[in-house]
Amino acid sequence: YPPERVRNFSIIAHVDHGKSTLADRLLELTGTIQKGHGQPQYLDKLQVERERGITVKAQTATMFYRHTTASQDSDAPRYLLNLIDTPGHVDFSYEVSRSLAACQGALLVVDAAQGVQAQTIANFYLAFESNLSIIPVINKIDQPTADPDNVKEQLKRLFDIDPSEALLTSAKTGKGLEQVLPAVIDRIPSPPGKCDSPVRMLLLDSYYDEYKGVICHVAVVDGALRKGDKIASAATGRAYEVLDVGIMHPELTPTGVLYTGQVGYVISGMRSTKEARIGDTLHQAKSTVEPLPGFKPAKHMVFSGLYPADGSDFEALSHAIEKLTCNDASVSVTKETSNALGMGFRCGFLGLLHMDVFHQRLEQEYGAQVISTIPTVPYIFEYGDGSKIQVENPAALASNPGKRVAACWEPTVIATIIIPSEYVGPVIMLCSERRGEQLEYTFIDAQRALLKYRLPLKEIIVDFYNELKGITSGYATFDYEDSEYQQSDLVKLDILLNGQPVDAMATIVHNQKAQRVGKELVEKLKKFIERQMFEITIQAAIGSKIIARETLSAMRKNVLAKCYGGDITRKKKLLEKQKEGKKRMKRVGSVDIPQEAFHELLKVS
Ligand code: GDP
Ligand code: MG
Repeated sequence: YPPERVRNFSIIAHVDHGKSTLADRLLELTGTIQKGHGQPQYLDKLQVERERGITVKAQTATMFYRHTTASQDSDAPRYLLNLIDTPGHVDFSYEVSRSLAACQGALLVVDAAQGVQAQTIANFYLAFESNLSIIPVINKIDQPTADPDNVKEQLKRLFDIDPSEALLTSAKTGKGLEQVLPAVIDRIPSPPGKCDSPVRMLLLDSYYDEYKGVICHVAVVDGALRKGDKIASAATGRAYEVLDVGIMHPELTPTGVLYTGQVGYVISGMRSTKEARIGDTLHQAKSTVEPLPGFKPAKHMVFSGLYPADGSDFEALSHAIEKLTCNDASVSVTKETSNALGMGFRCGFLGLLHMDVFHQRLEQEYGAQVISTIPTVPYIFEYGDGSKIQVENPAALASNPGKRVAACWEPTVIATIIIPSEYVGPVIMLCSERRGEQLEYTFIDAQRALLKYRLPLKEIIVDFYNELKGITSGYATFDYEDSEYQQSDLVKLDILLNGQPVDAMATIVHNQKAQRVGKELVEKLKKFIERQMFEITIQAAIGSKIIARETLSAMRKNVLAKCYGGDITRKKKLLEKQKEGKKRMKRVGSVDIPQEAFHELLKVS
């Protein structure tokens, strides 16, 4: 297949608008997968992806298609079509941008009833900035509330898309699907590479396979890649020999060669995905090849401490984290020690979803039980002497007690929110409560408003989306992109139990919110810490200033005193129960804190 017969495209859509279903239909239509293969949504391979209905790891599939609309005869030209899937969440926008860099076009899927939503807008701009040919696909036209004409108008107004370009489909009933692949071939240009240059390819994704080692997904930009070739990474300079090369059809299918413009996999003896960085350029070894533009190292935006739920499990957790980061090189991991939780890890994530997914995979795939500390964003603190530090762990601020803080900065995001207009009031209230600054307020049609806000990242990582959904009866859609740091009045909030600070509960908050957050944390803790043999004071403090306080009075009697002498089995049971309880406790000084308390604190913002 010469480049003229190759098309590389992706499908982009707001969540639930039908991206995966459409992808499945196209794979069936081309015989790449069997109809009714029993596993809906072929491309979503991870368990968490199926459960959450989102794509975390991009997948790619190659299809072969005979283009018969031009000529009906049987030797109509055959095309090689690469469907390059993209992750469906803002946390992975860098990965999305790399996947799109390997495409020349995209299907922009919009639900015919829901119309353009927040992620539609974000996705459109990503594709637009990558200079892709965009084919609008208005999907779910079988629904009774479908209003494709309204969607066409929205596309015209927001993106200046000509209404006549839109394809109308139902990925459910199959209606209109026959137009999709011909449109891909006719409207999307073929990949532009140079066939006779030394090989140069973009690394789209990588994962670790226990038997085969690291498998890289690549798009060959120039030249051809053959089994036995020597290649090198532009980012690390390391050289490898190509052991296996082929296409995803949709499983790994060896072909021995990938030509200019094609997309496929390479196995080259890499030991860890840390050697296979997304966006890196792989090229012919010992050649002076210009790296492809756009490579960036992973940017960690959310940090949290991860500790074994049971103190003795440190080794097990350590092993699980090591295994999992082998597959997800975008997590940063450093050891840390807490007075409350013992030995653990400080992990950096691309965003909140990435963090959740990592936790979930630790528990589901490795059976690890973890306690995580209040997530934090990377703040920047400047001291009186002009030195600056990035604070990824609030407890770390304590290690500079002698230094006066001169200024602090926090990361912000630009959020896009789309809502039916009757919810504008409450959403504006929520955003200003979260320290947002309104940047835009427009209407996208007669019923729907679009709000743009600059918000501190910290304000959206704790429960923002849930609250937004709650106050809009589930109608709001939300997306955001990273923006710059802004100066802010931040303080470190400590939690003290009987006067002793619990480092794992420290958090950094905005000065104006400190009082309220302190009060909430202290109240939550009072609810979750059980009464003990002595009085417990629970305090929130900024420096030496106590801003909230609760007291948990001492237990009056020993629980055993209740069983008068005789009933030994009951006594035994009670002691056992106490022991059970102990196991799930973390002791700080003399106070036992149940694990739930740590979980509950995560929900306070
Ligand atoms: P994604 O999040 O964009 O990947 O969306 P999915 O493909 O997972 O689809 C979300 C839901 O919409 C699923 O329950 C699909 O069965 C359903 N769906 C997808 N396409 C259509 C369609 O054309 N018509 C109808 N009625 N439902 C559809
Ligand atoms: Mg999906």
